[in-house]
Amino acid sequence: MYYGFDIGGTKVAFAVFDDDFNERERETYATPGEDYPAFVAQIGRRVAAADSRWHCRGRVGLGFPGVLRPDDSQVLAPNVPVIHGRALLADLQQRLARPIFAGNDANCFLLSEYHQGAAADIDLGLALTLGTGVGGALIHQGRLLAGRHGGCGEFGHGGINATLLRRYPELPLFACGCGRQGCLETYVSGTGLSRLYLHCSGRSLPGQEIIRVWQQQQPEAARCLDMYLDILAAGIGDLVTQLDPGRVVLGGGLSEYDWLYRQLAERLPGYLMNGVRPPAIVAPRFGGAGGVRGAALLAKYAA
Ligand code: BGC
Ligand code: ZN
Repeated sequence: MYYGFDIGGTKVAFAVFDDDFNERERETYATPGEDYPAFVAQIGRRVAAADSRWHCRGRVGLGFPGVLRPDDSQVLAPNVPVIHGRALLADLQQRLARPIFAGNDANCFLLSEYHQGAAADIDLGLALTLGTGVGGALIHQGRLLAGRHGGCGEFGHGGINATLLRRYPELPLFACGCGRQGCLETYVSGTGLSRLYLHCSGRSLPGQEIIRVWQQQQPEAARCLDMYLDILAAGIGDLVTQLDPGRVVLGGGLSEYDWLYRQLAERLPGYLMNGVRPPAIVAPRFGGAGGVRGAALLAKYAA
């Protein structure tokens, strides 16, 4: 059996997969705010209980929104304070007496979409997840590109395309949680959309509400979504130009909207080199379950 944990800032998803990768159980629980020993113990208890329910010694994979420092294996995940700066892998390995496989959550998402999903059999697949943060990943011939920190594909922390500053001179420069300024994530994550709307209208609204008023043709929402979609299309355009993927899979809450794909297909050619045909930009097959499935797949394929 394979166990996947998808660790987020507010919740952790845990799922058990059999050897054919059918999902057999899934559970979601709140991420403890500060208590690291409790966090480790919660994972430990779930693994031990699953081992005894399934009469096995499951292989464990973890996905988290960040990177691993190569010299001391510290987790760097500023959005999940309870694990930030901790030697999570070593601590879990010791507690569970087995190897633990861990990777970036967007990498896990793409690994899952590669295996029977929206990126199956694509030579070079690229993912961009639009959630609380913006995650990115690349998979080449079935192997995730990891890099020294497992941070290959942190596309959310690149800058936005400079031509946008001409088109939208009022576009502000936002400070990012990573310590940089003007990162793509600060504009096109779920929170980025709210930030843009606050800037355009002076009002705070959650992302779903902004989309609702946009569909009712509210002028401030129209301006905000125009900016949002152009920033996202230009960001994808830059990635496509530089990396030439065969397909781009979107993930995260915003990837559930059908109109997003039509809007991007219209805007993307304006951000590509002359004559280049854009790759398909597609919705995920596994939706929100991709992270936890991919974490379990890490445990299967990382060995
Ligand atoms: C983090 C990434 C993560 C993404 C999605 C970003 O803020 O830097 O590592 O993949 O959020 O959770
Ligand atoms: Zn950043």
